[in-house]
Amino acid sequence: MTKRIFRSICTVAIVVLLASLILIVGVLYNYFSEAQMNQLKAQTTLTAKGVSQSGISFFDGLDTGKYRITWIDKDGTVKYDSKVEKGGMENHLEREEIKEAIETGYGESYRYSTTLLERQLYSAISLSDGTIIRMSTYQNTWWALLLDMLHPILIVIIIGVCLSLLLAMQLSKKIVQPLNELDLDHPENVQAYKEIQPLLDKIHSGKNKYNVTEQIRKEFTANVSHELKTPLQNISGSAEILCSGIVKDEDIPKFSKQIYNESKRMISLVEDIIGLSHLDEGASDMVREAIDLYSIANDTVESLKPIADNAGITLNINGETAMMTGIPELINAIVFNLCDNAIKYNKTGGRVFVKVHNDADRTVLTVKDNGIGIPEEQQDRIFERFYRVDKSRSKEVGGTGLGLSIVKHAAILHNAKISLESKLGEGTSITVEFPKK
Ligand code: ADP
Repeated sequence: MTKRIFRSICTVAIVVLLASLILIVGVLYNYFSEAQMNQLKAQTTLTAKGVSQSGISFFDGLDTGKYRITWIDKDGTVKYDSKVEKGGMENHLEREEIKEAIETGYGESYRYSTTLLERQLYSAISLSDGTIIRMSTYQNTWWALLLDMLHPILIVIIIGVCLSLLLAMQLSKKIVQPLNELDLDHPENVQAYKEIQPLLDKIHSGKNKYNVTEQIRKEFTANVSHELKTPLQNISGSAEILCSGIVKDEDIPKFSKQIYNESKRMISLVEDIIGLSHLDEGASDMVREAIDLYSIANDTVESLKPIADNAGITLNINGETAMMTGIPELINAIVFNLCDNAIKYNKTGGRVFVKVHNDADRTVLTVKDNGIGIPEEQQDRIFERFYRVDKSRSKEVGGTGLGLSIVKHAAILHNAKISLESKLGEGTSITVEFPKK
């Protein structure tokens, strides 16, 4: 980056330097050209006055220096020329400055010499007798001026380039230094350039998101350890008592059953944790395919019927074929967890209704029960990991606290919307809407 800034500053400085030089030479050249032409005009006026008064004798012994004076007769023939023998000169009436002088009293023009390094300035005045005095002088052209000034120009360029390099070096370092000193661990405290504030904000919010994710992960790990520890302690306790040999024969089934139940709880917990971690990683290995939501729901309902019967709950399904694109394992997990909860958090003689139907743009699953219901203030929280309304009841019915988190994640992966209606003591209805597109 330092190199790029350095190169940019150098290029700009050198371009500006060269452009200024060209501009200055051009302006100076124009200025001097004008001044020289004015001077020539003044000289011509003076000479014209002298010739008007003294005639040809005005030129006697006159040193014209770098000026050339020509006196031209009305018919264009040369009466006098300070530099050339008048005999060898052609008619002058066609010259631009002469034509202009005949027309307006004064004329001027310039012509380039063959080398292009010089040009000749002409100025002509017509006298009262109709004759014309013309004076001319040489002037360096633009190129000649540039060549003449080459030496000082080169010195200016060399000094300019050296200064540009030096300044560019210091400037680029100065620009980059605050960036190198940025404390990206605390981007919120950095006050560098306001132009990079959006970048710092992005780093800051990215960091925050990362921190939140880390926090959730830490909490989850702590919760998992805690949840696993309790059944393990129970298993270990029961096993220890069995090992000690003090248990009466008739009590052995009680302790064995406790070990069996707690192990089963651990197995479902571990299964749910594995499933949820898999969802957290995006479940990219699971394949989406065309499925019939009704058929999946029906299979799940059939598999849960014995459990519902055992609990004295009636489980019903109605609906229609509902084709959609989805991941069968996850759709199954959604239906299973919702029905399982509707059975678990119900009352004896309770009912569970499962309904699948098609909307114009949605495929809708509803699981409704007339069970214990969820207090309003906790309805937002039951989709959180390990959140239970009544912990002991959840444990009693073999809950892990992860079922609805799995439902929520699986729904997110299908862009589905979940809505919940529940009234304490009256029942709960959870609807999942899968968009058709
Ligand atoms: P769990 O394994 O404890 O059932 P879930 O994540 O499936 O965990 O549910 C979280 C909590 O939400 C449950 O512990 C229960 O308190 C409450 N809950 C879920 N479904 C229902 C329902 N149909 N009726 C009443 N309460 C429910």
